Amino acid sequence: MAMKSATPIDALTHGVIQAGLCTGCGACIALDESPHSLMQDTHLGPIPAWMADSRLPLWSTQACPGLGVNYPDLYQKHYGHYPNQWLLGEIQSVWTGHASDPAIRRIGASGGVLTQVLVYLLETGKVDAVILAQQGRPTPEKARAVIAQTPEAILAGAQSIYIPVSMLDLLKTLEPQKTYAITCLPEQSAALRVMQQEGFAPAMQVQYVVGLYTGTALYPAAISCFLRSRGIREDDSIQSLKWRAGEWPGYLEIKTESGRIVRSKKVYYNFLIPFYITQTSLQSMDFVNEFADLSVGDAWSPVFEAQGVGHSIIVARTQPMASIIAEMEREGWLSLEEEDPLKASDMHGHMLDFKKRGGYLRNQWRRKMGRPAPDYGYRPAGIPLSRVLVEIVISSLFVVGRTAWARWVVARIPESIIGPVFNTLRLGWKKLSRPTKRKGLGDFHVDIST
Ligand SMILES: Cc1cc2nc3c(=O)[nH]c(=O)nc-3n(C[C@H](O)[C@H](O)[C@H](O)COP(=O)(O)OP(=O)(O)OC[C@H]3O[C@@H](n4cnc5c(N)ncnc54)[C@H](O)[C@@H]3O)c2cc1C
Repeated sequence: MAMKSATPIDALTHGVIQAGLCTGCGACIALDESPHSLMQDTHLGPIPAWMADSRLPLWSTQACPGLGVNYPDLYQKHYGHYPNQWLLGEIQSVWTGHASDPAIRRIGASGGVLTQVLVYLLETGKVDAVILAQQGRPTPEKARAVIAQTPEAILAGAQSIYIPVSMLDLLKTLEPQKTYAITCLPEQSAALRVMQQEGFAPAMQVQYVVGLYTGTALYPAAISCFLRSRGIREDDSIQSLKWRAGEWPGYLEIKTESGRIVRSKKVYYNFLIPFYITQTSLQSMDFVNEFADLSVGDAWSPVFEAQGVGHSIIVARTQPMASIIAEMEREGWLSLEEEDPLKASDMHGHMLDFKKRGGYLRNQWRRKMGRPAPDYGYRPAGIPLSRVLVEIVISSLFVVGRTAWARWVVARIPESIIGPVFNTLRLGWKKLSRPTKRKGLGDFHVDIST
């Protein structure tokens, strides 16, 4: 008797959700025929909750970042060709800069560029509304995708959110006649592009994808660990939370019911990363949001860091988006400097390597151990042995850090100690591993799986 082939829901349930690989993007919920299925909060971030009448189209598995979106294939379909270089993806123009309006620059995570672009798209009628992420919905420590129809609502969504937020399930609720822009992390942009290629109607209403460079995100439990390390009692509930409050690069700021306000510099609360880094952050091979029309990250450079005000790195991947950014500069919305793409990539060499080569190695190792891992359809050419050895050190740190006992210990070390100690170790390790991690990155090539 022939075996009944697995449905997409079976494939996603076993190969992604139970394997701990769900990125929480929400694409499958948007595609589900059931009007009742939804993304539900878990300790691993949002994951799909199917209903008895759930049914997905067969192609939905190709849009799932947990299984892996085939990047070479998507490049051919979306851009019509492979990227002009594989390290940074397809590029029309690169700038560093910030929103010209100081208030928007200040509330943004880096230079307020994304917020300013979204306001511009709305105010010039290029879109009817914007889908963005907002911290504090439905409760202060959580975050949700929301639809903003006014500049004020866009400003309310400024800042980065470092816990997983499902963005694409909201596609299910779009008004059919309207056009939208959306903010996406890299896996969400890629999933959305597959949905557009397959002609999924709500995805076709999205005119602009504005993307964030994405290094590491944290599981929600990182917040309680941080509070514990600052001596906050469990019953002292959170009243507000900002991940990048104040001047760039900003600090985590949490206000509690008892009136306590705790702040931690971004470089200090990074100590949470080895203990609470999401699985998606480890498996992803896309740092620079290769399928967004516009990708924006922090412009880390000694010159900008010395100024202490936000600067972004801004990459336009399509001609229409490059024209919009140039228009915004001409009209005084953005202050920009054009940059050489490869020189600009030096600001993020470590994270580019962490994703492109580290992500590939980590996925390979999982597969060798018989565990599912996302397949991006290509592999970096010629990874040196020294880089493999460095990855063994990095991955071991994450394996140990994410155990229950390591998390128990770290929550009991005051943040005033672990923050600076971790930062010193991080900078030391960066310096030590820099030659290995940068070796061959300037000449990055890939082999495409067939
Ligand atoms: C998890 C995460 C990791 C990151 N890692 C890096 C890194 O390693 N290196 C680097 O250079 N930059 C990184 N960034 C990007 C950086 O933090 C800034 O978001 C980016 O520079 C844009 O700044 P901005 O001031 O232009 O954005 P803003 O003007 O503050 O606008 C940000 C927009 O993005 C939306 N948004 C915020 N968080 C999310 C989210 N989780 N999902 C979907 N939409 C969201 C907001 O709603 C807002 O509309 C990361 C961002 C995130 C969310």
